Amino acid sequence: MSTLRPRVVVVGAGFGGLAATKALARMPVDVVLLDRKNYHGFWPLLYQVATAALSPDDVAYSVRGAFPRQPNLEVRMAEVRGIDLEARELELDHGPDLPYDYLILAPGSVATDFGIPGVSEHAFPLKTVPDAVRLRHHVLRQFEMACSRPWSLADGALTVVVAGGGPTGVEVSGAMAELFGKVLKGDLQDNLAAARPRVVLVEASDRLLNAFSARSRAEALRTLTKHGVEVRLETTIASVSAHAVKLGDGTVIPSQTLVWGAGIKANPIAQCLGVELFPGGRVGVDPDLSLPGHPEVFVVGDIAFATNGKGRPLPQLAPVASQGAKHAVRSIGGRMKGQASKPFRYRDKGNMAIIGRRSAVAELPGGIRLGGTFGWISWLALHLALLVGFRNRAVVMVTWGWNFLTSGRGSRVILDLHPAPSQTARRPRPLVAERHRPPRPLHARRQRLVSAQRRAAAGTAGRGKIAA
Ligand SMILES: Cc1cc2nc3c(=O)[nH]c(=O)nc-3n(C[C@H](O)[C@H](O)[C@H](O)COP(=O)(O)OP(=O)(O)OC[C@H]3O[C@@H](n4cnc5c(N)ncnc54)[C@H](O)[C@@H]3O)c2cc1C
Repeated sequence: MSTLRPRVVVVGAGFGGLAATKALARMPVDVVLLDRKNYHGFWPLLYQVATAALSPDDVAYSVRGAFPRQPNLEVRMAEVRGIDLEARELELDHGPDLPYDYLILAPGSVATDFGIPGVSEHAFPLKTVPDAVRLRHHVLRQFEMACSRPWSLADGALTVVVAGGGPTGVEVSGAMAELFGKVLKGDLQDNLAAARPRVVLVEASDRLLNAFSARSRAEALRTLTKHGVEVRLETTIASVSAHAVKLGDGTVIPSQTLVWGAGIKANPIAQCLGVELFPGGRVGVDPDLSLPGHPEVFVVGDIAFATNGKGRPLPQLAPVASQGAKHAVRSIGGRMKGQASKPFRYRDKGNMAIIGRRSAVAELPGGIRLGGTFGWISWLALHLALLVGFRNRAVVMVTWGWNFLTSGRGSRVILDLHPAPSQTARRPRPLVAERHRPPRPLHARRQRLVSAQRRAAAGTAGRGKIAA
């Protein structure tokens, strides 16, 4: 990789990071794509991993495999631990600091528990592939326990409470109801089947799928109820323990499974930037998505607090991340030619949510609304098309066909995963403040020299560390 060309570092190989990296392919820059994992996760299908419909590999794709022929790209599996905006360097969990000329930050978001007692200890978030696998193992283990110890049903062994009536909560509830009602039911002894597993969806507001029209919201409520999901609107979660979920109205639901789809906050890297943070810890950005005072840094996707033309915040959705990332790349291209950048305009291509078998709602531009089987087919087609990698698309298509025809779920293996000995023995790299900083390596010094002119205009924020 030549050090004479500007170096663009992209943080995060999610929806934003992948779109940015692809868009940078034909530009005269060197690109470094960093992610703490070695795969891109397709989060919209995560709930299908959690409910045994798909395998983890089907919704994850190797980052290196996604860019087999991009000569200006270097992929690194590393976690960003700090950002020095003045020196234009990233601190990583291992290896020397990484200098950049331009930075595209797309590290996404994390689950938040809103400070509700017991959520961080006992709830199952659904934000990563390990989260989904953990939930799947837990639910299947609960099922095995109920089969061998039927009295555990009274303790809520097969009661799943889902928090949050947004798309994730609706999708998980519908899929859990299907898992219990169609797939596992046949394996239950008669007395257990009669006791009926429960799925309870709890939503604080008075509606499900808030971003959708009244008609779609009503369809979601009707379909879930028909499939046996108990929907509790205008109800909050007060606390959770290992054996019960307590609701705001005082009801106690015996349950050992609370799925947390109730909220997210920006990735804690946001705190490194020394700028004003907006609700949800999101980073305020200029209209072109650059960091105020740092035209060389772009913040895109879930972590950014970008607004539409009317000043309303853009939703934390995959198309917002990928369109924002492409805009950031266009702005970098313009800056390299000395042109001023344009404000980001999000093109809303609609909303979709799947509710269950042959049931989804889709609201597309031009007032087009699809529901039921048509909505479901369009949901399946769109998600197949958006999946990264031909292998994943082919496997998911065949698996969906098989699941539909057999009403089966192939991914029902419970794996007891233990960390490899090398992982348990490995000590994490200490934070900068805790260790003596080694001299800056030669290549970093050269890179600083190459970029010296650009850095003359650097802002004032100092090195930030991830605090949480
Ligand atoms: C369960 C679920 C279902 C969803 N369904 C939909 C849907 O149907 N439609 C839709 O439009 N949106 C959906 N979303 C939202 C959508 O996935 C996000 O808006 C989108 O992923 C945001 O893209 P991003 O690039 O900002 O972050 P992400 O796609 O989350 O990518 C962030 C990447 O950064 C990496 N990273 C994080 N921290 C670091 C670090 N310190 N160092 C290095 N790497 C780091 C992560 O490993 C990750 O790969 C869903 C989200 C979830 C969780």
